[in-house]
Amino acid sequence: MIIDEVLKIGKTILKNAGLKSPILDSEILMSFVLNNSREFVLLNLNKNLERKKVIHFEDLITQRLKGKPIAYLIKKKDFWRHEFLIKEDVLIPRPDTETLIEEILNFTKSKHNQRILDIGVGSGCILLSVLKEKKDFQGIGVDISKKCISLSKANAQKLGLINRVKFFQSDIDNFANGKYDLIISNPPYIKKHDLKYLEKDIIEFEPKLALDGGLDGLSKIRKIIIKSSELIKKKGKFILEIGLDQKKNVKDLLNKNGFYIDKIVQDLAKNDRCIISTKI
Ligand code: GLN
Repeated sequence: MIIDEVLKIGKTILKNAGLKSPILDSEILMSFVLNNSREFVLLNLNKNLERKKVIHFEDLITQRLKGKPIAYLIKKKDFWRHEFLIKEDVLIPRPDTETLIEEILNFTKSKHNQRILDIGVGSGCILLSVLKEKKDFQGIGVDISKKCISLSKANAQKLGLINRVKFFQSDIDNFANGKYDLIISNPPYIKKHDLKYLEKDIIEFEPKLALDGGLDGLSKIRKIIIKSSELIKKKGKFILEIGLDQKKNVKDLLNKNGFYIDKIVQDLAKNDRCIISTKI
């Protein structure tokens, strides 16, 4: 069979199952099978596809049909300006989180030699994106998940940042290592009872550990704010991603723990997404 025919089968299967982007998904999966770009796929539609590759493609389509996210199938995801390695049990980087990077780069424009701590570093996408842009910054990433730590190390290696970053597998409560100019975190903040309303692709495949914020959605945020107030330098900046309707509660928590609110930033969908504060 030629690539075009196989691709059409994939698109039809995904479309009939009601998936949101059957064409794009099939093309991305085909480019993964061919270990080449989407452009290559589209320019070579009339080329023959080896049987082994047809089977590989069909297997990926079957997994996608069950809702497995594309990033877990192709083991990578673009975030900000780089491609990150991704694996299951690690949260897939979200475009909304790029809001944090923009803000960090804005207020660190004239800053040098800053020490950054990322709490719940996950794939490393936030910390490593910032380090890549700010050549004299140093970073520490902490995560309770062993898989996250090994993946963020692999991403640091891939981006040539291994000399400026260290990772620790730890609960943040047990971490007492140094003082930081900048603390960043995208913690789990979904209310336990709301997890079931997340899209099927998310709730059935992404790690609950990275999503579940306890009964009020604030259990991890609360703990991170308290701990950050100890780990941050005076006048240090704290950048936190938050969920829908958490602005007021998180502002109060920050104020109570000695932070002054600088700014609340909305994402592209106009939801409050990021709170920037300064330790007084
Ligand atoms: N923004 C993510 C989602 O809606 C949640 C990430 C998080 O809890 N930190 O799926």
